[in-house]
Amino acid sequence: MLGRIMIVDAHLDLAYNAMLGRDLTLSLGALREQDPLTDRATVTFETLRRGGVGLCLGTLFAMPQDAAHPWGYEDWQGARAQAQRQLEQYLRWQDHGHVVLLTSGQEVVEHARRWSADTSPLGVVLLMEGADPLRAADDLPYWAGAGVRVIGPAWKRTRFAGGTGESGGLTERGEDLMVAMRELGVILDASHLAEEAFWQAINLQPKVIASHSNARAIVPTDRHLSADMLRAVAQLGGVTGCVLFNKFLRAGWERGDARLPLELVGEMLHHLAQEVGWDKVGLGSDLDGGFGVHELPRGLESAADLPRLAQLLPDEHREQVMGGNWLKWLGAQL
Ligand SMILES: [Zn+2]
Repeated sequence: MLGRIMIVDAHLDLAYNAMLGRDLTLSLGALREQDPLTDRATVTFETLRRGGVGLCLGTLFAMPQDAAHPWGYEDWQGARAQAQRQLEQYLRWQDHGHVVLLTSGQEVVEHARRWSADTSPLGVVLLMEGADPLRAADDLPYWAGAGVRVIGPAWKRTRFAGGTGESGGLTERGEDLMVAMRELGVILDASHLAEEAFWQAINLQPKVIASHSNARAIVPTDRHLSADMLRAVAQLGGVTGCVLFNKFLRAGWERGDARLPLELVGEMLHHLAQEVGWDKVGLGSDLDGGFGVHELPRGLESAADLPRLAQLLPDEHREQVMGGNWLKWLGAQL
């Protein structure tokens, strides 16, 4: 459908899924047969390859402890242990030729130039989602040295910032981290930041993206970005990635409801483009990021179906939104 266009997905929790026991090197059928999780899986290296996804922001995501995740972290050392394990997973995948970690704009450009859907490993830029694995700002050089190029300080509230469903600004530790990120050139991911923290953060570190956020105008919760926030990210040059979770595409949708039509993704992309322009919109699917196939629009049965989104886009903007905008941004800014 897309010919040789390389899709870029700005948000995939690959190593987190592996940490939960999913072997992404299996075929999708084999993974589903032995899946330890109840959500129906959609992402394997093979489905990404079939979908033409050549590059993603792959997360290091540490889960905090709550009723549903009693094994989650209680302190920064626990968060660090999870992130460390996930980092090692990406390195193992790299050793086996499934992924290649990219740490500079030049590496991204080279990867895209040489990319072949049939033979190339998946390019991965490491994104730390939730900064709790860092002790404090002075810990940033370690993670940057390990390849982390993007950090979203919050998920829910962290020791650094207010986050989704838990309002608040940057803490003092969070302010220090923003300054350290600016100095080391580590990109700010605004997704999940509480609004107060968002405005403080982009002031201190204006090199910003929103890896996986939709429009608050359509789904009015603090998980998404207001028109002002979307425009602020775009004015600083950043791209916003559209999430494909049904709950984030239509207000009021709940797990167990019928799957939504694929056209709603098109409506979200058009809305985002209206706010920020087609050159600042991309994909940040978050596939298998705490939801599975039943929580995706109809027509998306796995990552291999991502090319179907192209038909929802104006001809002249397809290539940009499916990957070109992210590639351009990463090539210039990473
Ligand atoms: Zn997220």
